[in-house]
Amino acid sequence: MIQAPRGTFDILPEDAARRARLEGEAAAILGAAGYRRIETPTFEATELFARGVGEATDIVRKEMYSFDDGAGRSMTLRPEGTAPVCRAYIEHGMHKLPQPVKLWYLSSFFRAEAPQRGRYRQFWQIGAEAIGSAAPETDAELIVLLAEVLQAAGVGDVELHLSSLGTPEARVEYREELKRYLRAHEDRLSPEVRDRIDANPLRAFDAKDRATREVMQSAPTLLERLEGEDAEHFARVRALLDAAGLRYELDPSLVRGLDYYTRTLYSFESPRLGAQSEVGGGGRYDRLIEQLEGPPTPASGWAAGVERMLLATELAAAPPEPVDVFVAVADAAGTGAAFALAQDARRAGLSAQLELAGRSLKGQLRHADRIGARYVAIVGEDSHASLRDMSSGEQREVPRDAVIAAIKEAHP
Ligand code: ATP
Ligand code: MG
Repeated sequence: MIQAPRGTFDILPEDAARRARLEGEAAAILGAAGYRRIETPTFEATELFARGVGEATDIVRKEMYSFDDGAGRSMTLRPEGTAPVCRAYIEHGMHKLPQPVKLWYLSSFFRAEAPQRGRYRQFWQIGAEAIGSAAPETDAELIVLLAEVLQAAGVGDVELHLSSLGTPEARVEYREELKRYLRAHEDRLSPEVRDRIDANPLRAFDAKDRATREVMQSAPTLLERLEGEDAEHFARVRALLDAAGLRYELDPSLVRGLDYYTRTLYSFESPRLGAQSEVGGGGRYDRLIEQLEGPPTPASGWAAGVERMLLATELAAAPPEPVDVFVAVADAAGTGAAFALAQDARRAGLSAQLELAGRSLKGQLRHADRIGARYVAIVGEDSHASLRDMSSGEQREVPRDAVIAAIKEAHP
């Protein structure tokens, strides 16, 4: 038997309904704040992620699905959405539009990770990006919007972790200090972290093993060293969140798996998720557009994992769609008329299903009951139909061409 690849999953109809509901909530919340939907290609030039996400990140080092496009160019299934959205911003000259350009997406992403609960090789994210604004208000607004999306998704009890990375220039000195600290404790660090002291020392804060974590507890933090405009920007973000009544925890150990962040950084964690506790997160990335050869453009954004939201949500699976009428056939002579009646009913705005499995009349009634049909119209040879109200069991004869009106009258 051929199965879906490891770490991937099928979205079955009952899941699709929950997802559609989540999509609707997100579209309403983000749309009301002026965000417009964007969809980029499923694959991009590998170089986009190498440059955009960063060569030293886990994503680029070992999680990308890359392939040759047949003409000698390396392509990669998108592992994240920000770099592609920025590529589109540059490619379509969106810097000429009123700024910031506010975009959102709901797309699937691909990472060659070890599959486990909440961690897959193809997964979905809802993301939002505001490109062209350096204002702390933009960061605070994005954070509030993510909190609202999570709330609407039923992911209530989340914790917001907040930090700031300052600018890359401000980080230079700190990185050296951190490297010195890591070298001094090298013997207790995991080999992974040790190998990357030079390439990506900040990533040590994200290590999962106990010994490294212990070392990192006393490590110097960037948050303590924020100065000047970086400090002002962060103070303003905090003041806005305070004013909005959104609680957060300052988390100096917060680092994210992408290299492009500057200043504001955050994540929302759900205690209901266990090891993969992050439902969503993001931050400011003021240098990314420039890094991708666009004009210097500040920007900010987040992404939230759809599967993690659904795992953490209390929302039950959505009930199946209601069926206004099931069109049954009394005998073979009625099939043409039944087919036409089902079509007419749908055109008239009713949901209608037709017998398609050659069941006996009794079998058809049982099936109609199982799918929750409100009415069954039994069509035979003559120009009448029997219309059965499935809740009362009452059945009456009506002219075939009056069936739709009769149902609409009862359920306007
Ligand atoms: P994690 O630390 O859990 O690996 P990340 O730092 O890689 O997360 P991002 O790249 O910022 O996460 O992605 C944003 C969101 O996408 C995460 O908060 C999470 O909800 C979701 N996500 C990330 N990777 C996966 C995955 N492999 N499977 C399912 N969801 C994921
Ligand atoms: Mg990851």
